[in-house]
Amino acid sequence: MIWNPNKERMSRDEMSELQGRRLRKVVEYVYHHVPFYRNKLQAMDLTPEDIRTIEDIKRLPFTTKQDLRDNYPFGLQAAPQSEIIRIHASSGTTGNPTIVGYTQKDIGIWKECMARSLTAYGVRRSDIFSVSYGYGLFTGGLGAHNGVETVGASVVPASTGNTEKHLKLIRDLGITGIACTPSYALYLAETMDKMGITKDQIKLRVGAFGAEPWTEHMRTEIQDRLGLKAYNLYGLSEIMGPSVSYECQQQHGSHICEDHFYPEIINPITHESLPAGETGELVFTTLTKEGMPLLRYRTRDLCALLPGVCECGRTSVRMSRIEGRSDDMLIIRGINVFPSQVESVVLSMEEFAPRYLLIVDRINNLDTLQVQVEMRQEHFTSLFDTPAAIDALEKKLAAKLKSVLSISAKVMLKAPGTIERSQGKSVRVIDKRKL
Ligand code: ADP
Ligand code: ZN
Repeated sequence: MIWNPNKERMSRDEMSELQGRRLRKVVEYVYHHVPFYRNKLQAMDLTPEDIRTIEDIKRLPFTTKQDLRDNYPFGLQAAPQSEIIRIHASSGTTGNPTIVGYTQKDIGIWKECMARSLTAYGVRRSDIFSVSYGYGLFTGGLGAHNGVETVGASVVPASTGNTEKHLKLIRDLGITGIACTPSYALYLAETMDKMGITKDQIKLRVGAFGAEPWTEHMRTEIQDRLGLKAYNLYGLSEIMGPSVSYECQQQHGSHICEDHFYPEIINPITHESLPAGETGELVFTTLTKEGMPLLRYRTRDLCALLPGVCECGRTSVRMSRIEGRSDDMLIIRGINVFPSQVESVVLSMEEFAPRYLLIVDRINNLDTLQVQVEMRQEHFTSLFDTPAAIDALEKKLAAKLKSVLSISAKVMLKAPGTIERSQGKSVRVIDKRKL
């Protein structure tokens, strides 16, 4: 089923025409309402009249996270405060958080996009759906919540925390769908094991997972352990929140709501546009937003736009999984290292749980990388008393890491359950060099 076939199955020509029309309007709007953009366009000798088709987007300036910080809190807001009905903020672990205001129309579009996503996952009115993203300033909780209500399923606003009580509800209410981070889904699976709840006792069949990067290995594991089908849900607060893109039944790339968010892929260093299929930095222009419209916002997320059409019948362009973040990239001894590379190695070995931590340090002017990995219970139990076997396993992992990363890492195997759990986005890297 498709929530909005008119938009999700538009012909390419119609979509480009619609995008062009909306782009002209948004450029005109920010030119007159956001001094930041007017100044930028004037400095480039551009007026709104120069933007005619969607192709002209390449002439527009980029917007960065730093621009949002420099204009904290409301500098990029285009709508008057009286029109803003909701304010979210990104976590902002470094520097000022990013403040995003939404008008009534923005919230309506967000609900629509979230309803498209849930419908693509197969969520129906008869479903009971638990939203286990954090509620609050983070867009995950309320964003998903509004979407479930829009579809007409029953929403259970479980949020994070209270995992045992939540699992009891999942079992007793026959909850059929869940939205949370993929790492929290695995934490639920672990807690289920501890409580002695088996997957036959629960009715979960659909999972909407996002807010942090995950891999096909994690998908397989979550699907196996929770007995559901796991779909990707992508978004970011600057552009809207969850459901900027979503997977369909094909589980092959996430369809972008491109009638509202126009995607481009650029080379993060030279800024040149890259063709479909090539990996680079994802850039979005909001085509319909009123509260805080953004032109060519650089997400720092690395992925590719997928060429070709999807078998599900939707014509909207798909993006690959997020392969890393241009700002998450660690440079260790001059070599680029992504946490996702470590994850793919860890998950390719059956001895390990998908729990790992990279600790980077600088000792005597030399960068060091330590990779801590949790063992799976059954392997831990059988190796526990044989230091030689543990040693051999550490060496095996270190060798595999070296072949993928091109630098050596010190491996430390950990007992099951000893790497700290997060209920929201997980922490995968501790870089002590910055301290
Ligand atoms: P915060 O800034 O508080 O962390 P955001 O919701 O704005 O909260 O975070 C958005 C970021 O989360 C994205 O830019 C991306 O890096 C990551 N993200 C969100 N969904 C996914 C997903 N499905 N896969 C990979 N990364 C994701
Ligand atoms: Zn599809």
